[in-house]
Amino acid sequence: MPTETFEFQVEARQLLQLMIHSVYSNKDVFLRELVSNASDALDKLRLGKLREDSLDADVSDLHIRIDVDKDARTLTVRDNGIGMSYDEVGQLIGTIANSGTAKFLQELREAKDAAGAEGLIGQFGVGFYSGFMVADEVTLVTRRAGESRGTRWSSRGEGTYTLETVDDVPQGTSVTLHLKPADPENQLHDYTSPWKIREIIKRYSDFVTWPIRMAPEGSDTAGESDEAPEPETLNSMKALWARSREEVSDEEYHELYKHIGHDWRDPLETIRLQAEGTFEYQALLFIPAHAPHDLFTRDFTRGVQLYAKRVFIMDDCEALLPPYLRFVKGVVDAADLSLNVSREILQQDRHIEMMRRRLTKKVLSTVKDMMTKDKDRYATFWREFGTVLKEGLVTDSESREAILAVASFASTHHDTEPTTLKQYVERMKDDQDDIYYLTGESRQSIENSPHMEAFRDRGIEVLLLTDPVDEVWADAVGEFEGKKLRSVAKGQIDLDAKDDDASDEERQGQSEEYAGLLGWMGEQLDEDIKEVRLSSRLTVSPACVVSDAQDLTPALENMYRAMGQ
Ligand code: ADP
Ligand code: MG
Repeated sequence: MPTETFEFQVEARQLLQLMIHSVYSNKDVFLRELVSNASDALDKLRLGKLREDSLDADVSDLHIRIDVDKDARTLTVRDNGIGMSYDEVGQLIGTIANSGTAKFLQELREAKDAAGAEGLIGQFGVGFYSGFMVADEVTLVTRRAGESRGTRWSSRGEGTYTLETVDDVPQGTSVTLHLKPADPENQLHDYTSPWKIREIIKRYSDFVTWPIRMAPEGSDTAGESDEAPEPETLNSMKALWARSREEVSDEEYHELYKHIGHDWRDPLETIRLQAEGTFEYQALLFIPAHAPHDLFTRDFTRGVQLYAKRVFIMDDCEALLPPYLRFVKGVVDAADLSLNVSREILQQDRHIEMMRRRLTKKVLSTVKDMMTKDKDRYATFWREFGTVLKEGLVTDSESREAILAVASFASTHHDTEPTTLKQYVERMKDDQDDIYYLTGESRQSIENSPHMEAFRDRGIEVLLLTDPVDEVWADAVGEFEGKKLRSVAKGQIDLDAKDDDASDEERQGQSEEYAGLLGWMGEQLDEDIKEVRLSSRLTVSPACVVSDAQDLTPALENMYRAMGQ
């Protein structure tokens, strides 16, 4: 097949332009991206071979190898992993399928200045293309395990790339960067220096479970001796979750998070758990500092990585945490687990079920600790993940108490500070029996609601709930510390019931007095309403619409409609 030339997708071209002209100061991260891809490819191959023994692939010495050539100014990252077919190279490397990258580009368009754009590189992993920050040409040669011929991809990043089929390619992938001319001003960025490579790998990729090897210095210049010197292994390959807390620095934990969470920012919280006994496992979980943009979409990939005795088994293992903790990233390494275990089996496994309960408890208790020890951090957590956590109030009755304990809500008590239910109850008036809330689209629209008038007048605190899920959990939970949760927009709320001055007779009299008006209104609105009655809940507005206690509120109706029910 002849060499074919293709154009990059529009988005890919934009991203490449940014990489090529980047002045982003931390260019070292390109190597982390290439090593991370190589490590993924090795994981995939080992797993593929386990699942399909007949796969024609050599898995005897899976590793990553880095070679530098000072004279040619090239740097090559090679793996003998799964590789890519001709079509896959076109699909995976020529386009931007990654939703994180799409989001990156969208924010990029919104970024007002160049400095803003550069900052964004630090917040998103931009993967393979980051090589173009340091190289003016990139060549990738790959052969998919089990296939006989290979593919060569090459590009200068300027709008097009070439693809050709090639023979005699070793299994796996090698990526060669033709480095930009050396900057004599800045020796720090000499990526042909083994010292520099060693430092970057140590910093970003030490925990990678595959050996990352580099030929010793001088071995690339054609030597007299026939024996190639032993390559050195740059990473320790130590699984961080299996090491004691004292042995591991926060920075190392954070690097692992970035690797598995595909995030370039530090996590908000690191959670360690070691379970001993009949079913042994170790977990290292992370709460990110930012909610991913697709958290509420159907195709959000949730779950943590599952390992069995240090061997990677699967990504996104959703059986290990409930859906409302889908933002949690991390690793769970179980001692007694078949490498062949499937997602279906995991869903039904009793041990996994116990593990999920324990991990859920641990995450929630970590949030609780955050709440008492570090208010700002908790505030960040709740802002980013409160909405998703509240789903658990409906779906996980076992954890309901624990979730309620860490939940906070906007309230009429304070303009900006949210309140917990506990704090609300402590402030309740002596004659107040219920916890009041009102749902709506925004704080402002709720505060302007006629339903609020009587409460404001009497100085009764009302929770102001603006998430669609608020409707559902408030109904499902029903009460807190023996106090009923009541929507001020539902059913009959008689705030004057205890007041001496509003006797039953008086109200009876009023009803009779207004019977004509109420009857007439009822007839006029017959199509739309059930009944018209006198109310004590208004002080300024003449009338308001109320639903029956058991009816769906408007926001809930909208939510069900949006969910197609
Ligand atoms: P990401 O790793 O987030 O998916 P990248 O831009 O780093 O994004 O890589 C894009 C895709 O290209 C990968 O998902 C993978 O399918 C493929 N790929 C990249 N490098 C390799 C490699 N060394 N071996 C096999 N596939 C690779
Ligand atoms: Mg990648």
